[in-house]
Amino acid sequence: MGFDSLFFSGENDTDMVRQALTEGRVILTRDTEIMERRVVRNGRLKAILINSEVPEIQMRQVLSAFDLKPHFKPFTLCLECNEPLVGKTTEEVENRVPPYVFKTQTQYMECPACRRIYWRGTHWEAMIKKLEVLADYRDDFHEEVLR
Ligand SMILES: [Zn+2]
Repeated sequence: MGFDSLFFSGENDTDMVRQALTEGRVILTRDTEIMERRVVRNGRLKAILINSEVPEIQMRQVLSAFDLKPHFKPFTLCLECNEPLVGKTTEEVENRVPPYVFKTQTQYMECPACRRIYWRGTHWEAMIKKLEVLADYRDDFHEEVLR
């Protein structure tokens, strides 16, 4: 979706809180204990308690909580590294993408960190459609819409 984000893989919540404060991040959590921390209660650290276990519903809660739709820039950051993607010419990706992709695609992006190449294939189109639906939060939204 193009939002600077990271998955905290440590085990110590205090480390996570410290990192969030240092980097100016918002914590998205299913852990009610995080919400009870003084730094969250007094508003110094912003945290959101995610209600649902369904990823699509979770995304919608976050988009809605911060009114993120205007800032929606899908596929501008690497899905693995969170690094901004850089445009690449067809020549630059030759021999780095499958032959069929090379024949049919003209726009490519590369992650400068992991060197992964992205292109606007059918998966990309399907994801964009799904993300647009998710970003368009309505009051009458139900889980069934996603199935
Ligand atoms: Zn990457």
